[in-house]
Amino acid sequence: MEKRELVIIGAGPAGMTAAIYGRRSGLDVLLLEKGATGGQINITDEIENWPGVQHATGPELGNMFREHALKFNTEIRIADVKKVELRDGKKIVVTDKGDIEAEAIVVATGAHFRRLGCEGEAEHIGQGVSFCAVCDGA
Ligand SMILES: Cc1cc2nc3c(=O)[nH]c(=O)nc-3n(C[C@H](O)[C@H](O)[C@H](O)COP(=O)(O)OP(=O)(O)OC[C@H]3O[C@@H](n4cnc5c(N)ncnc54)[C@H](O)[C@@H]3O)c2cc1C
Repeated sequence: MEKRELVIIGAGPAGMTAAIYGRRSGLDVLLLEKGATGGQINITDEIENWPGVQHATGPELGNMFREHALKFNTEIRIADVKKVELRDGKKIVVTDKGDIEAEAIVVATGAHFRRLGCEGEAEHIGQGVSFCAVCDGA
């Protein structure tokens, strides 16, 4: 079975940050993501509250996070994590691409906003439909 020092689940801002810290500490890091790297930031139209970045689209900022993690040679793998479990005291990450034994696991799987399910909601996310008053609500 594949063995890694640090397995991070979720490549949103939290997972990317954990990867950067892990790699800078010299750890062997595997970052697992089931969808697109960047996480929720990908569905944000405009970012203007991140210090140092006066204006960016969500995908642009997400790409900056990705490039930053890659600069430190983080291995990013597209895989859906089904569960984590202890087997004989060993930490195992179970994914759709196989099992991985990890010395440490960071779970950074984020959150999902609840939707109303009303007409027009899905197609206008990031273009008027907001889930966060202080983020993109303005
Ligand atoms: C519409 C919208 C606008 C926003 N606007 C702003 C803004 O302007 N400014 C701001 O600061 N914040 C904004 N936010 C909030 C910001 O996007 C979140 O706070 C941030 O993305 C949370 O980061 P995270 O890494 O904790 O989680 P997430 O971004 O949710 O990332 C979690 C990642 O884990 C992955 N994952 C989940 N389960 C699994 C699994 N089983 N296996 C593998 N991978 C998995 C997901 O695919 C995802 O990529 C906005 C959010 C939304 C939805």
